[in-house]
Amino acid sequence: MLSVENLAKVYGSGSTEVRALSNVTFSIGRGEVVLVVGSSGSGKSTLLNLMGLLDRPTDGRVTVDNIDTSGMDDGRLSSVRNKKLGFVFQFSNLLPDLTVLENVMLPGHIGGLDCRREAEQLLESVGMSDQAHKRANQISGGQAQRAAIARGLVNRPALVLADEPTGNLDSATAAAVVDLLKSMATELGQAFVIVTHDRHQFGEVDRVVTVRDGKMVEAMAA
Ligand code: ADP
Ligand code: MG
Repeated sequence: MLSVENLAKVYGSGSTEVRALSNVTFSIGRGEVVLVVGSSGSGKSTLLNLMGLLDRPTDGRVTVDNIDTSGMDDGRLSSVRNKKLGFVFQFSNLLPDLTVLENVMLPGHIGGLDCRREAEQLLESVGMSDQAHKRANQISGGQAQRAAIARGLVNRPALVLADEPTGNLDSATAAAVVDLLKSMATELGQAFVIVTHDRHQFGEVDRVVTVRDGKMVEAMAA
């Protein structure tokens, strides 16, 4: 579904140059749940941002549904991103003055679609129906992350990229969010790539990829 080939990323130049990622190659199949683990600063977010077409590699390529994205201009990149990919970040990044439902519908609006029904269904799936009309600044952190997961799924992306989705939650709430992500993966049959520094929190997944000093050192079945 998505593959990366010889991916490299260098930030800055000259004396401020940081080689954040070198020579990373792997691919994600349909419906696969892959964990990306590694210590802080190892390059996990860099990898996820490149896979998500949020940033461009210094070298290598990202292929989405057999389409090479290397030569694309920003407009085409965001169109591919909006059609094929969903995102969940460490902080829910909900817009505080919109309602929960309006936040979940946003990726559809950006793509020019009305996805109210999908948004309502997803809020039901994540156990947030009763909060749908509250403003986003009136719900708890765990609830906001549930809403952010619904938002990440609303345009029915083939792949959801999640960067430390439980990193800002207490352990009980984090466990509930992990269960939710895994059940959404099973229910919707869509692929997830989840960055975490706590592999054990996620239990059994299809594959675990380890990043160390910007290199992929291990890609094995969990
Ligand atoms: P992780 O998500 O595993 O903590 P990152 O991908 O965020 O790691 O960072 C990898 C390396 O790249 C680190 O050394 C970090 O300081 C550096 N880095 C990340 N983003 C930038 C940036 N925008 N500019 C310069 N250096 C960066
Ligand atoms: Mg990170």
